[in-house]
Amino acid sequence: MDKPAAPSPFQRLAIIGGGLIGSSVARAVRTALPDMGLVIADSNAAHRTKLSDLGLADKVFADAGDAVRGADGVLLAVPVGAMADVVADIAPTLAPGAILTDVGSTKAGVLSAMQAAAPKGVHVIPGHPVAGTEQSGPEAGFASLFDGRWCILTPADDVPNAKVDALTQFWQALGAKVELMDAAHHDRVLAITSHVPHLIAYNIVGTASDLEAVTESEVIKYSAGGFRDFTRIAASDPTMWRDVFLENKDAVLEMLGRFSEDLTALQRAIRWGDGDALYTLFSRTRTIRRSIIDAGQDDAAPDFGRHHSDDSPSDA
Ligand code: NAP
Repeated sequence: MDKPAAPSPFQRLAIIGGGLIGSSVARAVRTALPDMGLVIADSNAAHRTKLSDLGLADKVFADAGDAVRGADGVLLAVPVGAMADVVADIAPTLAPGAILTDVGSTKAGVLSAMQAAAPKGVHVIPGHPVAGTEQSGPEAGFASLFDGRWCILTPADDVPNAKVDALTQFWQALGAKVELMDAAHHDRVLAITSHVPHLIAYNIVGTASDLEAVTESEVIKYSAGGFRDFTRIAASDPTMWRDVFLENKDAVLEMLGRFSEDLTALQRAIRWGDGDALYTLFSRTRTIRRSIIDAGQDDAAPDFGRHHSDDSPSDA
């Protein structure tokens, strides 16, 4: 990120959860907004030591309530299943006028939890940077994670535009592009672009590992045939993804219903030798891949645009 330092949208930002995403935000803040006060809280003692060693914050706290005292920006970067408890913990010490946001992969539940617990005068603007990797923890983060990626904000109805603008400027300073969306719509869009693809990856890797007629060594040896690309996604954090499916149950089940119908149609085409149906679908999907490259959300290099020297982006 070779940009000049932008004016800080916040005097003091408190990040709760200093794992992959929280530490990436901290790294990007240090690079792009070096004047911003920055504190991090994490419930994991080993992660707190690592965050201190990396110098990613002015101060690292064990208690989230202590960390948010006096902060005009509070960003929750914990698994979505932990958001409601964290909001309840910090509510008594949240500063009036502060922006309360998050980076969770689902939005409707987080919005409700924040609205239910945040004191009057705190501005609730949930968010989701659509950027990540299959890694976890403070060491997995990197400052350029949000470069050119979308960050979706789902503000509560009563939030003043100036507060939404301030959070938009924050993410833009970190390199992201920002879009506003209704929380329920976000959850439907992400169900098909991220959650169902992860479920398919978890399922196919599980099926392959259960096959008795094909040995594990064969599955690994010949994985470059396509399986390997699913294993990267299926290596994603189990806690995070358990919470995503429990939180976004309705939208995921709806999209899975559509997926199952389409899979049945493909099964039928294979059974009846309907090559035209297969060719037509595979041509259409190839066009979608090209559109993603044209939109700058991946590159056209072979091997799924994978950069072997660093983390492959995912769309969590
Ligand atoms: P992560 O690497 O596991 O980091 C989460 C951190 O928060 C860990 O240090 C965790 O400690 C800590 N933590 C858990 N519960 C806490 C609590 N109640 N109070 C304080 N700290 C707590 O996870 P992540 O990948 O950064 O994901 C964080 C959020 O970002 C999730 O909501 C996820 O949906 C969202 N997100 C993830 C991605 C992705 O690709 N990974 C992309 C976009 C958005 P422990 O490890 O001990 O639990």
